[in-house]
Amino acid sequence: MESQQKIIEEMQKVVEQMRIDDIEDNPDSEIETFACDCCGLEKPLAGSIEYSGYRLCNDCVLLAETGFALQKIKNIQELIDAMEDKRLAGLCDIIKEEEKRKNN
Ligand SMILES: [Zn+2]
Repeated sequence: MESQQKIIEEMQKVVEQMRIDDIEDNPDSEIETFACDCCGLEKPLAGSIEYSGYRLCNDCVLLAETGFALQKIKNIQELIDAMEDKRLAGLCDIIKEEEKRKNN
């Protein structure tokens, strides 16, 4: 559990840095939006990544990268499927808890 939290914290930093770098390269990317292929929401382009044909928003990139790091998923298709039937709900909860802890 301890090491899972470390991985999540690391991933949050890495993924947030991607977003910051994107905004530095192209300030418009913070305002321009697209429909995320994973969560289906309109999200800023900044920090989004394309994985094998799917463009994921920064939040979903965090889920994907954490999922890979914790070996919960092997590919993006699994994440997309999991988002549909909420199989990864547990992982999402861990990340949300971690964010709450960090913000307090
Ligand atoms: Zn998304």
